[in-house]
Parts: sequence; C-alpha cells; structure tokens
Amino acid sequence: MITRFAPSPTGPLHLGHAYSAMLTHDMAKAAKGTCLLRIEDLDRERSKPKWETLIAEDLAWLGLAWPDPPRRQSEHISDYTRALEHLSGLGLVYPCRCNRADIRAALSAPQEGALPATGPDGLIYPGTCRGRPLAERSPGDALRLDISKAAAMVETLSFTETGPCHPGTHTIDAKTLVFSVGDVVLARRATGAIAYHLAASTDDALQGVTHVIRGEDLFDATQIHVLLQRLMGWPTPVYHHHRLIRDEQGKRLAKRDDARAISLYRADGASPSDLRDMVNLPSAS
Ligand code: GLU
Repeated sequence: MITRFAPSPTGPLHLGHAYSAMLTHDMAKAAKGTCLLRIEDLDRERSKPKWETLIAEDLAWLGLAWPDPPRRQSEHISDYTRALEHLSGLGLVYPCRCNRADIRAALSAPQEGALPATGPDGLIYPGTCRGRPLAERSPGDALRLDISKAAAMVETLSFTETGPCHPGTHTIDAKTLVFSVGDVVLARRATGAIAYHLAASTDDALQGVTHVIRGEDLFDATQIHVLLQRLMGWPTPVYHHHRLIRDEQGKRLAKRDDARAISLYRADGASPSDLRDMVNLPSAS
C-alpha cells in the first residue's frame, strides 16, 4: 500500500488536516505500507514558503514521518506538461478565454431565474469556447478538457471506495459527466498553472499511489480523476474518503479557521494525543 497526504501550503493546517494526516499515516502503518507527503503548491499566488515550513513543523510535532524528500509539485511541471500534451494529442483539449463573469452571463441568459447547475468545480461550463483549436490559444487562456469527447473514448468508469460515506464499487456511465461535471479546467486562466485534477492524478500515478485517502469533500472530484487515469492509461487506486471535522455549528473547517490551527493547539500546550482524542482517533501505537 502506498498512500499520500497532500496539503496545499496556502495557510496553516487545522484540526481537519491533522485528522486527515494522522488517519492516512495510521492506515498505511496498519497495512505495513508507505505514506508519502506531497506539497501541492501549484497555486503560486497563494502558496507560501512560510506555510510549507509550518506544515513540516506541525506534522513532525504530530509524530508523523515521511520518506524524504516530499514531492513538491512546483518542481515537477514537466510531468504535468507531458500529461497535458498526451490529452491534447487525443484531441481533447481546447483553449478557453471565458472569465467567471462570462460563464455566469452565458449560464443565466437562457433560463432566467433558474439556478445554473454546479459540479465539483462550481458552475458547469456552458461550452462557449468548445471546439476552438489549440493553435488559437492566447496568453492568459485556460485549457479545458472536452468532456463529451473524452466520455466517448472511455464509456464507463469504475472505482472502489472504502470510506464510510459511499462504500462499494462505483460504476459511472462517463456520458453523465457531461452534465454533472462539464469541461474541467486543466490549466488555469491568466497564470497557465496546471489545475488540481490533472496535477493530483499525474502525481498519484507517478508516485505509484495505490490508495488515495482524503476528505469526503473530494468524493465528487474522484470521477474526474478516474477519467483522467483512463485517458492516460494509468491504474485507478482504491479510494477512501474520510469524514470531515466540523465546528460546533456543524460547518466543516476551512483554511480561514485559524482558531483551530494545529500551531495554536501546540502553543496552548496541547499534546498530539489530545488532538487524537479531539478527532476520535485511537492513540498512536
Ligand atoms: N491539496 C488538496 C487539499 O489540500 C488535497 C488533494 C488530495 O488529497 O487529492 O485539499
């Protein structure tokens, strides 16, 4: 078993991250497997070295160790570019010049009043730029995956989920992704940075990840990752989406919930086993 914890260094880790990291580490240990650390720092504006340093300190304090060095996504751009070229070679990628306002306007025009459909990445792209040739890409354009063409190439997708929320084998007719997901962004507008789905799927494949353990908020993104794996000829790992840690109001913790930053618990004199108690994880053996 090879699994990974993949934080983005865009803020302090909070109790939810601590739970994810400890659970992933515990599951790997129980299976006598390996847990890798991956720093998802492709968002160059929001990723900061100070957050990466704090992540390393927090994880060490929690008693979690990883094979060195961690994979830092910003150091592997050529791997993502190669994947993008493969998808482009299949005729599945097109440049998109739409910004958020354009997408909103295109979606609100025909069905006045009705709420536009959303998917794992928010509003489902209306397809305004679909079919534009790659050669017409201007600096600042995003790159999108033509999901209906992609769906026609793979037909059905399937993956095994072992987490508590949706356990079992999931078989998805790829055509449904046209409506439930839409043409996902592979490289972002303005910066050209490789987007999360392509980067994470590439890394999982290249790092030989056999089990993806992460929060249940990413369950709906999994079908995109399985689609990309199929298009790239990569194996599909087993997925385990764990419950999310919520605040007293039942809201899941976000990066801005600094009050629950691991570093603050540390500074307050809490111990790693106190944190394990707080999230109902058995103490480390
Ligand atoms: N970097 C993502 C996050 O911090 C995790 C992605 C994943 O585990 O696939 O939410």
